[in-house]
Amino acid sequence: MTAINPRPSQTVMKPEKDRFLAAENPFEEMMSRFDDAAKRLGLEPGLYKILRMPEKQITVAVPVRLDNGDVEVYTGYRVIYNTSRGPAKGGIRFDLQVSLDEVTALAAWMTWKCAVVNLPFGGAKGGVICDPTTMSNSEIERLTRRYTTGIIETLGPDSDIPAPDVNTNERVMAWVMDTYSMHKRHTVTAVVTGKPIEMGGSLGRREATGRGCMLVTREALKKLNIPLKGARVAVQGFGNVGSVTADLMAKAGMTIVAVSDKSGGIYDPKGLDLLDVFKHVQGKHLLNTYTRAKHISNQEILHLDCEVLVPAALENVITHDNAAAITARIICEGANGPTTAAADEILNAKGIFVIPDILANAGGVTVSYFEWVQDRGGYFWDEETVISRLEKIMVHSFDEVTTMAEKHKVSNRIGAYMLAIERVAAVHRLRGMYA
Ligand code: NAD
Repeated sequence: MTAINPRPSQTVMKPEKDRFLAAENPFEEMMSRFDDAAKRLGLEPGLYKILRMPEKQITVAVPVRLDNGDVEVYTGYRVIYNTSRGPAKGGIRFDLQVSLDEVTALAAWMTWKCAVVNLPFGGAKGGVICDPTTMSNSEIERLTRRYTTGIIETLGPDSDIPAPDVNTNERVMAWVMDTYSMHKRHTVTAVVTGKPIEMGGSLGRREATGRGCMLVTREALKKLNIPLKGARVAVQGFGNVGSVTADLMAKAGMTIVAVSDKSGGIYDPKGLDLLDVFKHVQGKHLLNTYTRAKHISNQEILHLDCEVLVPAALENVITHDNAAAITARIICEGANGPTTAAADEILNAKGIFVIPDILANAGGVTVSYFEWVQDRGGYFWDEETVISRLEKIMVHSFDEVTTMAEKHKVSNRIGAYMLAIERVAAVHRLRGMYA
């Protein structure tokens, strides 16, 4: 097989200005890392072209009757990026920032993420452009059911399996599962993961992404000889991923000095009283109304004096503009794509140990895989089994990524991409091309 470099125009270092523009396009951001890893692997030209394109992009109109009788039409997407290793797997997000580019990038990330932790899944993602914070529960239910119906051809336990993501949760997954099952005329639990336990969800799924973040951070601290006990942690984003990461890191002995949500952050250099913070947010309050710690901005949280920074909110928050001022020794990327390619260069030069998103937050999809296996087998595991199997996969994957990075003298991120692309490419070679 002839190996070539990827198309030169896509691999040459872009001028700084262009790289700022790329930072606004998450797909280009992700692909700049893909290109780097593909080049180092010497990926053959045909495979390079195949892996640079999503298999399928679906756009649907989602008309919803609002509670006041008006009709609103939302735009929804589902992107299937690659299914060579198995059914497509990926979350659904409801957010005003959703775009086809973003969903495509996230679908590609899912492909690499599943491959990094060696799950038999391909990658997908979905989203609807909407602001669920301004919608009632019944409006969100109607939106979910109509969107599910719009993309129903792609869904199925053998073809495409959604999960929760930004602004969606197990309630939304229950509606997706019910809508799909109504169309199929029988109950199909394995069509979604992240469901309520009562209807086929897995124990440990809700905490899985945060648990994965805690586990790989623990391994990184060990590798860098930094004591875990008392290691200071700042977490940006206090939703499913951020809040569980903070909770489990605190339980493991680390000190959570700051957390933030979309309203801003709170900081206490001696460590926050997390129980008190949880009590505050459980009352549906944002952190800017919390009174027992100093208030900081979402920019300031990135620059705090700490050992571990966990960006667990949205993408492109660590950029060329703010990366130089980061002093954390470890960045654990709870969110997908929080660091731009230009920022990566700065972090690498500073010697910051980055645990890349496709490894750091893979705990969620790993337990999603366990949930799918349990649904299909009709036999459910106890929580201890879920946690110990997750730990085994996360620790092993951390070792595989860091070994790859060290072997090729590249960053952990490029090491993770190389590991993933090699696995996806290997299956393409074995399967051959249907033409
Ligand atoms: P979520 O909706 O539960 O929480 C998001 C949090 O980020 C909230 O606290 C919100 O207030 C905060 N936030 C929103 N905009 C912000 C901003 N501009 N600045 C700071 N904070 C802001 O979402 P989640 O499920 O925790 O997902 C967070 C990230 O993790 C996303 O990138 C998602 O793709 C990724 N992720 C989630 C899972 C999962 O299992 N939920 C798995 C893998 C990756």
